[in-house]
Amino acid sequence: IIDIKSLNKFFRKTQVLTDINLSIQPGEVVAIIGPSGAGKSTLLRCINFLEEPSSGNVYFMGKEVQQKSSELDTLCRDIGMVFQNFNLFPHYSVLKNITLVPVALGLLSKTEANETAVRLLERVGLGDKKDAHPQSLSGGQKQRVAIARALAMNPKVMLFDEPTSALDPEMVGEVLAVMKQLAVDGMTMVIVTHEMAFAREVADRVVYMESGNLVEVSDAAGFFAQPKTDSAKRFLSRVL
Ligand code: ATP
Ligand code: MG
Repeated sequence: IIDIKSLNKFFRKTQVLTDINLSIQPGEVVAIIGPSGAGKSTLLRCINFLEEPSSGNVYFMGKEVQQKSSELDTLCRDIGMVFQNFNLFPHYSVLKNITLVPVALGLLSKTEANETAVRLLERVGLGDKKDAHPQSLSGGQKQRVAIARALAMNPKVMLFDEPTSALDPEMVGEVLAVMKQLAVDGMTMVIVTHEMAFAREVADRVVYMESGNLVEVSDAAGFFAQPKTDSAKRFLSRVL
């Protein structure tokens, strides 16, 4: 569903991604792990063109994701993204946060969007929060609203960039539980995370990055049992 081919990314003269090749299958859950500054976020952001690759190609469902393409907006609607810091609209209710974009784009009528939002809020365990404002929610609740908002676009892939790292520890579990259920339901997911237990349990494959390189791509069980590279071994011994 996603094909990344010979992707390079520079910020000015600094190369932050080097010759990345990665294919992600429909229904697959891929965890991207690695030290700070490895290029994990940049890689994720190149998938939906929040960052423009310096060279190489990204294909989504067989179509090239590129600025020139008039289909870029349509293409990227099918790719949901959840950020570390939720990025909710602070002055709108939870319901409006979820319905705003699909209604504005004419993808759903207001009634349909409201029904979808209520259904999704129930799915993330927030059925009673539709009229709340973000500031009255805990971090874990905000992040679950952000996930519901992304799902309201009916995406084919969900990208997560450290969705739990801004949360107090007691709220991490509720967000991971929602993500785990999404995975069980068959959503294709690419997740940058420091939650190794979650990656081991939920991911099909693990991508280990360091200094802009894909150092190791392995099935999750194999990666955690026996990493192939010394750098992944060292990383795991630091974080586990
Ligand atoms: P972290 O775990 O800390 O989030 P990361 O693996 O996500 O790290 P990136 O955020 O992708 O790493 O950053 C990779 C490199 O690119 C870093 O050296 C970073 O300083 C640099 N970088 C990221 N975004 C920009 C930018 N907009 N302009 C210049 N340099 C950037
Ligand atoms: Mg990052």
